[in-house]
Amino acid sequence: MIDGSRAISEVSDAELLGWLRVRGEPAYRARQIRRHTTHGTARDFAELSDLPKPLRDALAGAFRWSSVEPVREEASADGETRKALLALRDGHHIETVLMPHHGARNAVCVSTQAGCPMACAFCATGEMGLVRNLTAGEILDQIRYWQRELAERGERVSHVVYMGMGEPFNNYDATMASARALVDPERFGVSARRLTVSTCGVVPGIDALAGEGLPINLAVSLHAPDDPTRARIMPINRKWGVDEVLAAAARYVKRTKRRVTFEYVLLAGVNDSDATARSLADAIQRHGPTKDAHVNLIPYNPGAGGFHRPSVARMERFAEVLQERGLAATLRISKGQDIAAGCGQLKVAEGKAAAV
Ligand code: SF4
Repeated sequence: MIDGSRAISEVSDAELLGWLRVRGEPAYRARQIRRHTTHGTARDFAELSDLPKPLRDALAGAFRWSSVEPVREEASADGETRKALLALRDGHHIETVLMPHHGARNAVCVSTQAGCPMACAFCATGEMGLVRNLTAGEILDQIRYWQRELAERGERVSHVVYMGMGEPFNNYDATMASARALVDPERFGVSARRLTVSTCGVVPGIDALAGEGLPINLAVSLHAPDDPTRARIMPINRKWGVDEVLAAAARYVKRTKRRVTFEYVLLAGVNDSDATARSLADAIQRHGPTKDAHVNLIPYNPGAGGFHRPSVARMERFAEVLQERGLAATLRISKGQDIAAGCGQLKVAEGKAAAV
């Protein structure tokens, strides 16, 4: 049972050093502890055999090993994609997904909020409303959850996508603190180029990320090229419209020299016509060179909003129209759809989170 004390992932380096100093421990112990709690296979402080026993006991008395506790795990039919339901210390729940790719990469999708306030019409998480923001430690502990198991077979988390529950830019500080810990070679050591932050179009967040000086990938959920359609399925469009979002994405490209991915969920009869594809290409091209954009087409996963998935032929034609206009467009069949781990499907149906 999770108690009320803080997890080691929620303790800053300065705090940890101070805590060790008071106990007369050398500073290098902080590095040892951090290494164990990022790369290692240990499951609690007692297993840190290169630390003196009294120190292990003191750590266990002062901090929790993790800020999240596994409740349940599900695997997709092919056994590849796995989704874990994790409990937070206050009884709320979040989900995280591991997406291995032919042994070549291990991508983890993390949540940044329990629930989400943005209410996108096609999204199961949006139906929950916001429960609360996660701490940076709670974001990192989702990665640690999978990392422990991967380390046992000599692998590690190679990519992290901030695409789980929540809007990362609504929890900017914790999102960035977790990203900095991920790229820190002394901690997780994941290249910034292998991190992707996905936003539904929070323009100040896009600009702030551009100013961080980290080559993090940006994914923008666009889902429609015109304001009336986008506002219908994404309430945030009433605050920042299509042109403002595309202009912010163009600024991001200019400052970071990274290509931007536009996420586009295909909804039958809503945003999947040839004419809409042409408008989408025009809208993107109005704001910057085609080579700087990539459109990720996502077939709608049945669930929230009662929409329908277009036929495969319709989705392929939509992709073709974009490609004919010179845009890189991929049609992605979501991994893990059979365990509701596909895009827009994360939703916690139990515990306090469901009640809000
Ligand atoms: S799509 Fe993203 S931003 Fe929109 S409601 Fe779902 S989790 Fe929130």
